Amino acid sequence: MSLIPDDLSTALEIAGAVRRGERSARDVLDQHLERIEAHEGDVHAFNVVLADRARATADRIDERIAAGEETGPLAGVPIALKDNLCTRGIATTCSSKILEGWQPPYDATVVTRLSAADAVIVGKTNLDEFAMGSSTENSAFGPTRNPHDLTRVPGGSSGGSAAAVAAGFAAASIGSDTGGSIRQPAALCGVVGVKPTYGAVSRYGLLAFASSLDQIGPFTRDVADAALLHEVMAGHDPLDSTSIPGAALSLLDQLERGVEGLRVGLIAELMGGIEGMSAEVVDRTRAAADALAAAGAEIVEVSVPATIYGLSAYYLIAPAEASSNLSRYDGVRYGLRVDAPSLTEMNIATRTAGFGDEVKRRIMLGTYALSAGYHDAYYGKAQRVRTLIARDFDRAYTEADVLLSPTSPCTAFALGERTADPMTMYVNDICTIPSNLAGHPAMSVPYGVGADGLPIGVQVLAPAMGEQVMFRAAAAIERSRR
Ligand code: GLN
Repeated sequence: MSLIPDDLSTALEIAGAVRRGERSARDVLDQHLERIEAHEGDVHAFNVVLADRARATADRIDERIAAGEETGPLAGVPIALKDNLCTRGIATTCSSKILEGWQPPYDATVVTRLSAADAVIVGKTNLDEFAMGSSTENSAFGPTRNPHDLTRVPGGSSGGSAAAVAAGFAAASIGSDTGGSIRQPAALCGVVGVKPTYGAVSRYGLLAFASSLDQIGPFTRDVADAALLHEVMAGHDPLDSTSIPGAALSLLDQLERGVEGLRVGLIAELMGGIEGMSAEVVDRTRAAADALAAAGAEIVEVSVPATIYGLSAYYLIAPAEASSNLSRYDGVRYGLRVDAPSLTEMNIATRTAGFGDEVKRRIMLGTYALSAGYHDAYYGKAQRVRTLIARDFDRAYTEADVLLSPTSPCTAFALGERTADPMTMYVNDICTIPSNLAGHPAMSVPYGVGADGLPIGVQVLAPAMGEQVMFRAAAAIERSRR
């Protein structure tokens, strides 16, 4: 059964109508809350729906509009937040038992910026525990289901955010992407998902998984909405030491520029020949390239040889950083505490009870990769592979302005299908991980469906701070679908 409504407005349409006084923010919100009421029981996109708080926000926006006050670019737009983003005074769980009862004392910078733009926060969405996973089945609170087919996963780790937009529970949502956690669920749920350049969007208030890879980005119904959300969220933040200086790039003004003369490279290594890569996903990627060619782009085949080692490097670097980042959950400072006679025993009992299997697996992998005897052989080598990938991309970008590949090797798989063997889950990220390792932006644009009727996404990649050209190409791909 599909739960995809066909009468949904985009964020730009909603904000426009609300600001012109044609629709009230309250009316828009109530419509979304009704859909949540009707279908959230099946989908489980949310860890918490903040209905009362959202109504109060929407009413305040309506009052300001009635009083003739200026409102922000997201006036009245219902937005869902991945539950690893800090929200002051509202439980932030990372879908983990270990954060039970913890309420952050501050808002993440993106939350502050969305609120300042007059977005209406509708709730916090489900994720794989600490964003580790590709199906949202690693949540301590049970899986999210794909609104296109409730027997399938929505992808992950931001599966709740992707499903919330696909099901019409929110006009847009926010996720985080460490190895593909925005782009892969966007592809599986048929929505647009963007991972910005590392440092373009502040990570202040994002609960860290792997700090050198994590980035925050939007899920939206179309490319223009993603551009709008990026413009609202990006730009320097002194509270994040990795934040890039300067204002956000303007993207909405790029969308109609077209792709005449643009050089578009198909990544040879990701266009087949990979285990588990379905032919139809590769076909749709070629179709997107053909559409860009018809719009005036020049299509070339480029080689990024080290991308195929991205997965191996990522599964050393990301767990290594996670093992360090997650050491703060010790039963003293946050959430859960399982009492025991000594401090060490309390630490062990808390972490044993509080973390799920995948999180424990990553902590062990990472601790091993960083241990004195193995540091150079594993972590050190992975870092060198990371450098090779960045160099390969640099070379590729002398031949092409943007690159294309599939986003996910396949369409949404069945719940339970890949939980037994972590490797079958990890290979889902083969196309998305290289951009995280390089720090480059990449986004997924829905482009047709597979034989099973489920959405397929095409990935557009660009060099660091190449969001403008990336959005130009993405907009052209989207136009060709009509
Ligand atoms: N699926 C990948 C992992 O499990 C990526 C997760 C993410 O981007 N947060 O690590």
